[in-house]
Amino acid sequence: MPELPEVETIRNELLPHIVGRQVTGVTLFWEGIVRQPSVKEFCSRLIGQRLTRLARRGKYLLFSLSSGEVLIIHLKMTGSLLIKPASAEVGKFVRAIIHLDNNTEIHFRDPRKFGLMRLVADAGFIDDKLGPEPLEAGFTPQVLAQCLANRTAPIKALLYDQTVIAGIGNMYADEALFAARIHPLRAGGDLSSAEVKKLHRAIQQVLRSAIGNKGASTDTYFRPDGTRGTAHFQFQVAHRLGGESCSVCGSPIERITVRNRGTYFCPKCQL
Ligand SMILES: [Zn+2]
Repeated sequence: MPELPEVETIRNELLPHIVGRQVTGVTLFWEGIVRQPSVKEFCSRLIGQRLTRLARRGKYLLFSLSSGEVLIIHLKMTGSLLIKPASAEVGKFVRAIIHLDNNTEIHFRDPRKFGLMRLVADAGFIDDKLGPEPLEAGFTPQVLAQCLANRTAPIKALLYDQTVIAGIGNMYADEALFAARIHPLRAGGDLSSAEVKKLHRAIQQVLRSAIGNKGASTDTYFRPDGTRGTAHFQFQVAHRLGGESCSVCGSPIERITVRNRGTYFCPKCQL
């Protein structure tokens, strides 16, 4: 599932192809991908507009339009946005195409069809649903401590909860906890201030490194040019199936379930 580093990579790599371009058409192969407004209204309001800005908030992509409206895209489990020349073949799992005036198209590829597009007058409601951005200057160890204070839920579950911190999902929660040497089942509110500091550093380091490696292609994630990211080659615990050993102590990595999410950790290093 695309998390902050994957969505940030898509933003960075889509940006030079689309900003300033005009939408000349929309093709839908699966209408359910448009959640708001009606399909007819979505297309008529989008076509003719210029894309003025592309931002990321959490795992959401926000395309600002010349009218002041915002096209929101969420890739959910299996979505990717591919940039293609107008003559390109349409792949099997492409659910929508946004045609641009530079003979370029954005192909929304989404095998499992959980991804979505919404066209709204104001995207401010997204801020109300999300916790702080973990790579912004305002996200200090003190802010993380406030996010976790008095929380009895397992730290793993708090890290992937978008209302606590925006953008972290299952993979990077496991990686950050390993880097901070914290057991995924510890209650968030029980971490010492030294542990919160370590976790803060680990979160930023894991996310920045993954952005540098253009995201993790463990399953269906592609960069806009169709190539794969390499961040998963750096993973220490996430997706380490079948008793692979810890790179630090050699113990077998364990898999447990935390609130229905498969969770990988080293039982010796993470306390
Ligand atoms: Zn270990």
